[in-house]
Amino acid sequence: MKKIIVLGSTGSIGKATLDVALKQQQHLQVVGLAGGQQCQLLMEQVAVFRPQSVAVQDIQCAQRLRALYPDLVIYSGQDAATELVRETPCDVVVAAISGMAGLGPVVAAAERGRVIALANKESLVAAGDLLMTLAKQHGAAILPVDSEHSALWQAMLAWPRRAVRKLILTASGGPFFGRSKEELQEVTVSQALAHPTWKMGGKISIDSATLMNKGLEVIEAHHLFEFSYDDIEVLVHPESIVHSLVEFVDGAQMAQCSYPDMRLPIQLALSFPERWPADYVTNHYAGTSWSFSAPDLSTFRCLSLAIEAGRRGGAYPTVLNAANEVAVASFLRGETGFLAIAEVVETVLAKQMPKKAEVLSEVFAIDEWARRQTATTIKQRAV
Ligand code: MG
Repeated sequence: MKKIIVLGSTGSIGKATLDVALKQQQHLQVVGLAGGQQCQLLMEQVAVFRPQSVAVQDIQCAQRLRALYPDLVIYSGQDAATELVRETPCDVVVAAISGMAGLGPVVAAAERGRVIALANKESLVAAGDLLMTLAKQHGAAILPVDSEHSALWQAMLAWPRRAVRKLILTASGGPFFGRSKEELQEVTVSQALAHPTWKMGGKISIDSATLMNKGLEVIEAHHLFEFSYDDIEVLVHPESIVHSLVEFVDGAQMAQCSYPDMRLPIQLALSFPERWPADYVTNHYAGTSWSFSAPDLSTFRCLSLAIEAGRRGGAYPTVLNAANEVAVASFLRGETGFLAIAEVVETVLAKQMPKKAEVLSEVFAIDEWARRQTATTIKQRAV
């Protein structure tokens, strides 16, 4: 029996993880849940899984839970999820809080030496060097939940690092694949949220539409697998069946395929080094065709901005991540246009960068600096 903590349990990955936990009850026990703003859903999850501890930001939601479950350990406020991770013994922490907000709890899990099933790519983008060092120091394994990285991990599992020449990340291309810049001028929030192959949360859906998601994933792959940016490629594959490929030094390539369902990579991160029988997806490829093309880097600027920030290193990836989060939130509120996301991120990246962070508190300081710069940039554009 593995004891698991699910961070971001009311989000898209969190809900899928709890579905896996339900179907694999003989293997998994949910001991901790951390939810965001959706109190009702969190209460339902507590009723079903009866964890030992729960983290919730909202004080009122904490009070409702306390009244119903006197024995439940409840953490509330800004650092609730981090405290829960520090104080709840478990085997695996599923890190599925979206954005920079997920970094604190991931760091806590690394410091505790837990197995981390990582869905929060932003923590590797914003603090990759520090987080990987911390994980090594404390013996915390970071297992990918992101479907592309799970695919790369699976394809490489049987081989030493020296056998692999390069990583090829596939990208669906998002809802606007094939469109020109002119055609993207007036796209709406709901069009950008309508991903053709994956059902996901708001932030990552917009990141998929801009291809920023793929850029963040290149940086994530760089840290997770220790490959240089020269040895990581992106290939657009709209069918989302081939989840990524590795190329070995002899030129052979290995891909991992399945219809898109996040429960597959989630379950693997939880079952590893085993595989548990499951029937989430049915793969019938007869009559289908799969296509691949190079990404359109001039229309989808965010991809090259991210790779460039990754190459530069230092504060750049942290700033990229923060600027993108602020710009995406602004787009989701209907305050800026779709193409403005890349323009705003580019403007902020062109500013005088802060020094590289040596400790985590400096990462948070850079993040805050970048958020302020981005808010100002957006305001100035509006005038
Ligand atoms: Mg992905």
